[in-house]
Amino acid sequence: MKLSQAYKTSFSAVLHIAVLLCYPLVVVASLGIVLIPFFRAYLKETIGFGLLTGLFIAVFFLVSNTSFRRTFLIVSYLVLAFLAFLKLSFYYHYGVKLSASALFVIFETNTTEASDFLSNYFDLKIILLLILFLLPLFFLRKLFSSKSNLFKFREAFQLRTKSLKFRIPILLLIVILGYGIQSKFKAENIFLTSFSSYEEYVITKNILKDNLAKKHSDVFSDVTSEKGRQTYVIVIGESTSSWHMQLYGYHRNTNPLLTEIKDELTIFDSIITPDVHTILALEKILTLSDAKEPNKKSNGSIVQLANHAGFTTYWLSNQRPVGLHESVSTLIGNAATQKNFIATDNYNYDIHDENLFPFLDQILKNSIEKKVLFIHLIGTHGTYKKRYPVAYERFTEKSPNLKYHHKKAISTTNDYDNAVLYNDFIVRTIIEKVRNVDDKSYVAYFSDHGDEVYDTMDLMGHNSYHATPPMHEIPFIVWFSEKYKANRSFSTPKDSLSKRRYSLEDFIHTFSEISDITFKEFDPSKSIFNTEFIKRTRFIKTDVNYDKR
Ligand SMILES: [Zn+2]
Repeated sequence: MKLSQAYKTSFSAVLHIAVLLCYPLVVVASLGIVLIPFFRAYLKETIGFGLLTGLFIAVFFLVSNTSFRRTFLIVSYLVLAFLAFLKLSFYYHYGVKLSASALFVIFETNTTEASDFLSNYFDLKIILLLILFLLPLFFLRKLFSSKSNLFKFREAFQLRTKSLKFRIPILLLIVILGYGIQSKFKAENIFLTSFSSYEEYVITKNILKDNLAKKHSDVFSDVTSEKGRQTYVIVIGESTSSWHMQLYGYHRNTNPLLTEIKDELTIFDSIITPDVHTILALEKILTLSDAKEPNKKSNGSIVQLANHAGFTTYWLSNQRPVGLHESVSTLIGNAATQKNFIATDNYNYDIHDENLFPFLDQILKNSIEKKVLFIHLIGTHGTYKKRYPVAYERFTEKSPNLKYHHKKAISTTNDYDNAVLYNDFIVRTIIEKVRNVDDKSYVAYFSDHGDEVYDTMDLMGHNSYHATPPMHEIPFIVWFSEKYKANRSFSTPKDSLSKRRYSLEDFIHTFSEISDITFKEFDPSKSIFNTEFIKRTRFIKTDVNYDKR
């Protein structure tokens, strides 16, 4: 082979290899513009991925054995293509970076079977994306044949690849690239985030398991409560934003039944959830933890507090207890005297909350004197269309006042509003059932978080990355029975009470007050009903002031 010929072959080899290894980066850089919201995030993702690509190319040059070089090239391509695919498909489905908080959603709310999850994940566009990543392997198959001399470029360049002069700069480059990824682009690296977020998830769950799943908690002391018949009901909603509720001024009549008894309700109009993920929100709402101090080491839940106070507790849930991962509300609910998990199907199936009623009737009927019921609804959890029976399909036309006018926004808004309408029926029915018992009772309803349904941005669902107001602003409504009101009243006028600005992270204190339970750590300034109530800074994401974002 003439030298010039050898150079030509070598150039072409280097070009082929560079094209192959840079291809995933090119796809991330081009499709990312469409799929990654916010230009800054797009830039970070692209640069981060570029560094990773550089790292693989540098390591490639260190491999001196020709046949191993071939294997290494194929493996490198597959790894880079897989990571790019994962990144882009995650943005496509969830509109967010594959991150700790995003993975929480999958670990926790996705009680779907793995096979169902995958079949949902791999829709047509995702399959096309997959093909896009497999294409180069087909076109460059020549590169991988054993006759290919494309890998012998080093001999042509007369590179002494084993000499230190060649190796030291490459090793230095690898260290620099590795350091760059670790220090500046850690969050963009899927390996690192997957590992650390899974660890965080397991820690949270273990703390919950050790502290909260037991009947009693050592953290509550000096617990007292009233004697006599009491039936208290906490209804925990799911993904229902106050932004789509008629009671909170939504333009569609999504709450006809609750509006009917509006005067009997205390409707708190300035309530936020401390977190937009079920697991992280409920951990703060139902226990002593809060946004500033999540995962408290010595923690106790309202279920345990009620147990201490001599109540028989019931956890009635329409959320599947075990799925890909055991859900955290299951752990909190585990402390209850009696547990009923009604739903066994995953979220892709029709699950309606009226399935809870026969169980509720039975509990309300029993002769036990002091009861606290926790009802965990499936509420308006996606897929919205599968949360209500046909009879509730009332909103079918294009909603007025839409911010986004595309087909998906129109139909999803209708589905969500129908689900909210059905939820209205569920909450009202629970109130009526408790009214019929004629005890000293209350029904308190709130949602764990809301959903963004194309209200402020072109997005559906919830994630702490965007954390929009519709995800944080939730309904909180309390109804008291006649016997309750005859026994006690709250001295603050209802009007000013309902305007109090509150984060449900302090709910345990409100729960304690309206349930006539006292305990040593009770802080009256954190109970929304108390005369000593103090308006506080509402934190989300540990230290972000929600009202001054
Ligand atoms: Zn939720």
